[in-house]
Amino acid sequence: MLDDDYNFMIAREDTGMFVDESSRKKVLCISCMHENPPGSQVCESCSEMLPPVTPPPKLEDILVKLEEAVDAFNKREITKKDMDSILVGTRYFLEKKLAEVEAIEIPSDFMTEMKEEMDNGTSGVKALIEACNLLEQYSTSGNRKFMDKGLSLAKVGTDQVNRALRLNWEKFQAFRSMAEEMIRKSLQDKA
Ligand SMILES: [Zn+2]
Repeated sequence: MLDDDYNFMIAREDTGMFVDESSRKKVLCISCMHENPPGSQVCESCSEMLPPVTPPPKLEDILVKLEEAVDAFNKREITKKDMDSILVGTRYFLEKKLAEVEAIEIPSDFMTEMKEEMDNGTSGVKALIEACNLLEQYSTSGNRKFMDKGLSLAKVGTDQVNRALRLNWEKFQAFRSMAEEMIRKSLQDKA
């Protein structure tokens, strides 16, 4: 028991995320109303995909990729051309993501509710794009001011994107428990 508590706390510190009770609860399938064991990903009864009960993974890979590229460039393990092609590729990926996010049409009823996560998401991606630009300036000029600025901006952007993902997940969970409660109530009424 004590060990479990300890491991739980470690896990919490490692991920920086809270582990909530929902990960230990049965998972109700909204399609067929079958109650699945905790942690199920697919409904045992109708094979429908069940929604994730654990928080989304954090976005870290872009930040790590940029940090590694800069480090390798500083150690002359990669050339300016390699570095630039990593930056161009990353920026292209981010610009596509940004266009996707900006193309999402939010019904006006949800606009206020969604605003915080949308703002965090788009400004986070924009910060990461700007970080690529600054790092490109660094690879061209060798001026470390651009490197420092670029890397710290990449961190800020990553935090913002993670905040958006987290908010999105929390809202989804809240919506889901509401739906579950309604379904359970209606089942009780029938019984
Ligand atoms: Zn089902």
